[in-house]
Amino acid sequence: RLSRQPEVNRPDLEVSFEFFPPKTDMMEARFWESLNKLAPLKPRFVSVTYGAGGSTRERTLRMVSRITAESGVPAAAHLTCVGATRDEVDEVVRGYAEAGVNRIVALRGDPPEGVGQPFTPHPDGYKNAADLVAGIRKIGDFDISVAAYPEKHPQSVDWDAEIDNLKRKIDAGANRAITQMFFENGDYWRFVERARKAGIEAPIVPGIQPIHSFKQIAGFAGRCGASIPRWLAERFDGLEDDPETHALVAAAVAAEQATELLDSGVTEFHFYTLNRSNLVLALARLLGIRP
Ligand code: FAD
Repeated sequence: RLSRQPEVNRPDLEVSFEFFPPKTDMMEARFWESLNKLAPLKPRFVSVTYGAGGSTRERTLRMVSRITAESGVPAAAHLTCVGATRDEVDEVVRGYAEAGVNRIVALRGDPPEGVGQPFTPHPDGYKNAADLVAGIRKIGDFDISVAAYPEKHPQSVDWDAEIDNLKRKIDAGANRAITQMFFENGDYWRFVERARKAGIEAPIVPGIQPIHSFKQIAGFAGRCGASIPRWLAERFDGLEDDPETHALVAAAVAAEQATELLDSGVTEFHFYTLNRSNLVLALARLLGIRP
């Protein structure tokens, strides 16, 4: 059911768009094309991810610097502390500041062996995301976002550990949390309720993942501990060789999720774009976000 709310124009809504740093010239062309199409929506920021183990360090810096210098859209740089010393991480933070980037998405990152594997901090490194947030705060006045997990992080022993950890990140100075992808809005609302009960007042912005390719997104979800509900898998079942129907189903699924959140009072959204603009543009329009 699409939102029936009378105001079709919602200038009060805040959106942010997540991109990844492109590897090839062709991917880079798509990156800029998508960014230029989404820029007129005046996002709070567009963020650029930091590859596993810091593998895209230079590319992330290059992209956020160019966005800041050339597009007029505020850029946020992701940053992880896995496998790096404090000095190395602090140097990246200072590099962002020098490039005029004052928004950071601060993350722990995952060990090279994979998401589910135990995390061992670098002996001279930040211990976790909360420790990293405190470190960034010492360097400068950044707007800091951190990660939250409506279905619990795979390494959290229980819900108390999960919520305590988010509270530590906010108390260390983060401005908001952005959630991992989720497909059952009930998971998001239960998470928000738990966080509010624990005294977390910062915004918890839902991360919306449009399903450009069910196979790809199901793979991502499996690796990061987000579940694919059976009804969702069934909607895409058999559409592998039918891209047109797949795209229509993807649009309907994401529209249903986002408009339901809107109708329940959500006013801030983060979209995982995978460097594509089409589905996200349509969703923004349905929410009432216009150029
Ligand atoms: P943390 O908040 O440090 O916590 C991770 C886990 O460790 C939690 O289960 C927590 O309970 C536990 N924990 C933490 N501290 C303690 C403690 N003191 N004692 C006991 N347990 C503790 N990854 C990338 O590599 N690059 C990116 O650009 C990137 N962007 C992301 C953006 C978003 C919005 C999200 C949701 C995730 C992103 N990730 C990214 C993935 C992220 O790095 C992983 O999910 C990682 O496993 C956890 O990072 P974190 O910042 O949530 O870690």
